[in-house]
Amino acid sequence: MGFARLGLSPALLRALAEYHYTTPTPIQAQAIPLALAGHDLLGGAQTGTGKTAAFGLPLLQRLAKTTPANGPRKPRALVLTPTRELAVQVADSLKTYGRHLRLNVTTVYGGAGMGPQVDNLRRGVDILVATPGRLIDHLERGSAKLDAVEILVLDEADRMLDMGFLPPIKRILGRVPKQRQTLLFSATFEDRVKALALEFMRNPQQVQV
Ligand code: AMP
Repeated sequence: MGFARLGLSPALLRALAEYHYTTPTPIQAQAIPLALAGHDLLGGAQTGTGKTAAFGLPLLQRLAKTTPANGPRKPRALVLTPTRELAVQVADSLKTYGRHLRLNVTTVYGGAGMGPQVDNLRRGVDILVATPGRLIDHLERGSAKLDAVEILVLDEADRMLDMGFLPPIKRILGRVPKQRQTLLFSATFEDRVKALALEFMRNPQQVQV
């Protein structure tokens, strides 16, 4: 079964064809229709399963459907990742899949200067991919605003908890609108991941590979 059957738009199907993606992976086949329909999603998947496209494709399609308010573009989607490497990788994938859409993807992560990140944020962002600690720095200095976020992704949630990111994650969750879609991906679903989901998600659908 191809990607077209999952309800993806022509612009995304074109990008997938250009990158010779012919068949959705199991996590993509399960997650994409549910996420496109607006459900919160609890995804059990490791790296290498195609999880980035499983949340990235519906995220891009849903954002592309609506035009942002006038004025500087504030992030309408926020993807939190445990590491700088994953943030860069996720942002690259979103740019690839979204190459025929006009959506701006920006990253913020620790271990790099604040200045260029502040400049990028100021230029306007549709999708922000961030590590939790550095995002807090930007929130404190007012360079990032999260009040327009419609879709929140927690990628590799178990790893973020392992790295001690629960406090910043909770602070960030307190700054995004309650009315939103939340997608959480994790390789494991131990109690603390479940507790996070229970506290911050609404009737999540579970998909697992
Ligand atoms: P991820 O698990 O998201 O890190 O993806 C693992 C790798 O699989 C990445 O290099 C993707 O570009 C690739 N990939 C993801 N989905 C597909 C697909 N449906 N067909 C072919 N390659 C894919």
